[in-house]
Amino acid sequence: MKRFVNLISLAFLSWGLLYVPDSQASVTSPLDGVNAFSTATDDITDLPDSPQAQRAAAKQLTIPSSSPIPLEGYRWPSRQITVYMATQDHQVQVAFPVAVKKWNQTKAVHLHWIKSRQRAEVIVTDGDLQTTGNSNVGYVTSQLGSTETQFNPDTHAMIRAKSTLDAAKLRYVNRQYRDHVAEHELGHALGLAHAPEDYQSVMIPRNIRRGISKLDRQALRNLYGLN
Ligand SMILES: [Zn+2]
Repeated sequence: MKRFVNLISLAFLSWGLLYVPDSQASVTSPLDGVNAFSTATDDITDLPDSPQAQRAAAKQLTIPSSSPIPLEGYRWPSRQITVYMATQDHQVQVAFPVAVKKWNQTKAVHLHWIKSRQRAEVIVTDGDLQTTGNSNVGYVTSQLGSTETQFNPDTHAMIRAKSTLDAAKLRYVNRQYRDHVAEHELGHALGLAHAPEDYQSVMIPRNIRRGISKLDRQALRNLYGLN
């Protein structure tokens, strides 16, 4: 089976930059910050394919050519998607279920929790995400979340996804913001790409205010073959 791990687009999949002032300099213009590139902390390709993934390999999936929110170009073969919680961090353990519930409310997909990491299609976890910046000019940008996806480029079928929140950095934001980061990362794990900055969408990079919008809902429903 031909497989492709979406590592290059991690930069685009990375979410939200939190601007943490450098201790020795003041922040002059937070929005001038650089994009943080993430690196995978553990490799999802070392796991055997789930039964769902193996079945998915043979089937060609249709991806809509236009969409209210940009699409990555792949999706899960079934609208029933399994998720495994791989974190002991309490705040992350709270944020992802909120995000799962919100995406399920779109009725485009149904994410459900399972206890087997091996069988899960989506893994949600916490980890240290890379921090970049330049203390000489007084800013440090910290990546709050990232999502790594594995898909079959021939069939457009997703095989696995792993969404990571940086628990340590998310201690400094409020709960709603954390929920939005989790929603954004799961949006990537479902096949949505980044929305332009002026859109009403949870998929805007560096989004700090918006949850899942009507456009996000519509895009996901289109992607999964619903109206
Ligand atoms: Zn993103």
